Amino acid sequence: MATKQLGFYVDTTRCIKCWACVITCKQWHDIKAGTVSRRNVEEENGGSFPNVTRKFTSLSCMHCENPGCVAVCPTGAVSKREEDGLVVVDQGVCIGCKTCASGCPFGVPQYLDMKMNKCDACLTLREAEGDLPRCVITCPCQALHFGELEEMGRLAAEKGGKLMEGSTKPSVYIA
Ligand code: SF4
Ligand code: SF4
Ligand code: SF4
Repeated sequence: MATKQLGFYVDTTRCIKCWACVITCKQWHDIKAGTVSRRNVEEENGGSFPNVTRKFTSLSCMHCENPGCVAVCPTGAVSKREEDGLVVVDQGVCIGCKTCASGCPFGVPQYLDMKMNKCDACLTLREAEGDLPRCVITCPCQALHFGELEEMGRLAAEKGGKLMEGSTKPSVYIA
């Protein structure tokens, strides 16, 4: 288990599905339109007219406590960092075999130029401790938060939010 775990808190009550988080992610990571998307906004509709509901949830890799992608990767290209719990891909080691797709219950791993491609919480862009991923900075509605998972839990609790469930134990709170 990592000594520290960073994670996201996604406040669906604030999300307006503007896609700014998705676009800024593509721009900062030099990902061409029409290829992979490291972040996506899911939409859930409920109820019946006139009492309908809509909920938008912006999700990327969950940097799971027990990452299935790490467990199945035959080369060690994907690993969980001891110092902050982030799950990262070493593209120099990745052979593009796509085995990691079978280990992730959330369909996160995508493939670009024969290499696995997923969110690293902007690890390579953040220069100082406390810097935030670009999606969090860009969101105009403060729907995305990032930091120590315990702190995310405290923030989420103010809105009755909960830790996401899943066999791999995602590091994401959702309200
Ligand atoms: S595609 Fe890359 S990261 Fe995924 S299982 Fe194969 S070697 Fe590992
Ligand atoms: S969400 Fe999927 S790709 Fe991300 S750490 Fe968990 S198992 Fe791996
Ligand atoms: S930028 Fe914020 S409001 Fe817009 S889709 Fe992403 S999470 Fe939702």
